[in-house]
Amino acid sequence: MNRRSFLRLATLGCACCAVPACTTTGTGTAPGPVAIRTDLIPNGRFGRQRKFPLCVRYITIHSTGSRGGTAAAHARLLREGRIRAKTKWNRRGYNFWHFTVDDCEVVQHLPLSEAGEHADHDGPGNATSIGIEICEFREPARQRAAIERAARLAAWLRRRFGVPPDHVVPHYFWTMHRFNNWHKPCPRILMDGGRPGAKWEAFLRLVGRS
Ligand SMILES: [Zn+2]
Repeated sequence: MNRRSFLRLATLGCACCAVPACTTTGTGTAPGPVAIRTDLIPNGRFGRQRKFPLCVRYITIHSTGSRGGTAAAHARLLREGRIRAKTKWNRRGYNFWHFTVDDCEVVQHLPLSEAGEHADHDGPGNATSIGIEICEFREPARQRAAIERAARLAAWLRRRFGVPPDHVVPHYFWTMHRFNNWHKPCPRILMDGGRPGAKWEAFLRLVGRS
């Protein structure tokens, strides 16, 4: 794709989506139990200097890997450009995603018209999925609350974008073609033995009920 046609797509939204970009920006009216707070990464900086359109077909669930780190703490790290890419395959120099969820709130970091860098570098996971990070806590009650809030968010996004139930996927789902087709054991708080099992199935049931 040449630069002119890329820019046109970036303006109009993804050509493969039935949903025009103007209806995929922002969050609309989120229901009370989701209550999204917006704290965006500065436009044009920290990964958002180079934009790829998001064509929403999946919702990818992660967990942060940093115990005790809240959604607000992650929002600040993203806003200050402190989550740098760890591999050369990251095209924008930073890791970033759409939402972080903890036991108290949902924070949105990125418009839903823009692809993040959270799943599989230049693979379909980043190009077609909304990225949700669930915060990790030692306290079981806080962890449970964060997981339940993430399920409510995923259920709401699924309805809003017409994402099929089996397109709510763990990060593990995406093949890391830059790393010998490795599958990252993420979200680790919902994996069994490093892969989706009973905990992941329970999460999907929670999404289905939310
Ligand atoms: Zn992940």
